[in-house]
Amino acid sequence: MGTMRVVVVGAGLGGLSAACHLAGRGHEVVVVERAEVPGGRAGLLESHGYRFDTGPSVMTMTGLLSDVFAAAGADMTDHLTLSPVDPMYRACFADGSAIRVRHGREPMTEEIRRECGGREAEAFGRFCDYLTDLYKLELPNFINRSFNSPLDLAWPLGPIIQLVRMGGFRKLNPVVEDYFSDQRLVKLFSFQAMYAGLSPFEALAVYCVITYMDTVEGVYFPAGGMHAIPRALAAAAEKAGATFRYGQAVERVVRRAGTSGPVTGVRLENGEVIKADAVVLNPDLPVAYRGMVPEVDMPRTARKGHYSPSAAVWLAGVKGPWPEDAAHHNIHFGAAWKGAFQALLKDGTLMPDPSILVSGPSSSDPSLAPEGSSSMYVLEPVPNLDGKVDWVYERERLKESLTARVAALGYPSDVEVEYFFDPTDWERQGMERGTPFALSHKFFQSGPFRPNNVSRKVPGLVFVGSGTVPGVGVPMVLLSGRLAADRVEEAGR
Ligand SMILES: Cc1cc2nc3c(=O)[nH]c(=O)nc-3n(C[C@H](O)[C@H](O)[C@H](O)COP(=O)(O)OP(=O)(O)OC[C@H]3O[C@@H](n4cnc5c(N)ncnc54)[C@H](O)[C@@H]3O)c2cc1C
Repeated sequence: MGTMRVVVVGAGLGGLSAACHLAGRGHEVVVVERAEVPGGRAGLLESHGYRFDTGPSVMTMTGLLSDVFAAAGADMTDHLTLSPVDPMYRACFADGSAIRVRHGREPMTEEIRRECGGREAEAFGRFCDYLTDLYKLELPNFINRSFNSPLDLAWPLGPIIQLVRMGGFRKLNPVVEDYFSDQRLVKLFSFQAMYAGLSPFEALAVYCVITYMDTVEGVYFPAGGMHAIPRALAAAAEKAGATFRYGQAVERVVRRAGTSGPVTGVRLENGEVIKADAVVLNPDLPVAYRGMVPEVDMPRTARKGHYSPSAAVWLAGVKGPWPEDAAHHNIHFGAAWKGAFQALLKDGTLMPDPSILVSGPSSSDPSLAPEGSSSMYVLEPVPNLDGKVDWVYERERLKESLTARVAALGYPSDVEVEYFFDPTDWERQGMERGTPFALSHKFFQSGPFRPNNVSRKVPGLVFVGSGTVPGVGVPMVLLSGRLAADRVEEAGR
């Protein structure tokens, strides 16, 4: 196979990963991004001397990130400075107690011993072993691969049998309860199911791999904030030969015979056509199908599937230092637990007693706020636009209750600059159903059942990002870039 000309539409983390892999393999890559900067959901807002990340705040699995740099022939440490966040989270519970989730097995075992007793501390070691075994089994067999048919799931047979033996198809919550009896720890090691758009009571234990990602692999923070990651990846891709065209939106995919045949390029909104042997689409998959290849039916799961809950995000620049007892990431668990998931996921209403994330990025990197001030990132899970919330009415009320709660929790409240996002804002940015977290990871929406990363109907058309395999979140979309690059090369054979 010779060099291919590839257009990557979108410089989100998925598109950037694809560009790094493709450029690193010697292909001619043009990345077309409608924004003026890379990052997509991992965006940046700057005002009054504050710099706010607008999307992901919890960075895990740094090895997967360095793999992407390596694919572009680069060394991550030349482009990005990552430091461990320790404690990774401060988990605050409704009974007033707090557990600091420490970086590393030993310190965390000690923390659990101190807060919850020796039996729970001893269980933590066994739980980490279980998570590690699960991850080692799932990564090559079920996560870091593309699928052509559901049969791929059962072939080779060994891994799926092993997964069944490991209890991977039991529900996540009871599996965690097999290890811990302190319900605070059960919450702490099962809430990650939410990252997959599911409650720990309905998610399968296979999704304990998400718990592995933070609990075992650790949480990191880049100097300059999360947005430094896409900037660095773009620089590495560019160095490997990719060309970036920012501020230019793609209107549609161009095919050999109008609405049939293989892809021949993309047409920009300004009418220009960029020729290509293959096109990689990074915009949210349903939105990409609808807008860029409207003649092709999108996969049924993308149309009819269950989308993850969304998030309301309040970014604030506040006067005053970050509280001494607060960590970089602070999870304030509500008293209601099962009921909260029922409201969010089944009833489509706001959680009665929401659990929230309050992060203070400037506590790790003071350059993100003016001296003596703090940057604050607050996230509350809320229903997506399939839910029953009237956002015209609820937006201000939610913002008020959230800001009041954060102030009552002791965070600085003298706001100098602020931004607020609800699901309608995410929808306007091109996220299906107003959720940044795409299709949830129900079993029949994962692996071979998730919308495929290649179109069988349009030769040369490939998808990357959280709407396709393997799924949602920074580690997954980075992997999706390699899978997309492989699909491009398959199309060229
Ligand atoms: C508030 C929030 C919190 C999150 N928290 C975390 C977290 O803590 N940890 C974690 O791992 N993940 C988190 N995530 C999820 C994570 O950010 C996403 O899964 C990931 O960034 C998605 O990347 P992507 O490449 O799939 O899509 P995107 O980032 O959406 O990239 C798509 C790109 O395509 C571009 N585009 C769209 N249309 C066009 C067009 N017509 N022409 C050209 N370009 C176009 C867009 O501008 C964008 O740059 C969070 C997301 C949000 C929003």
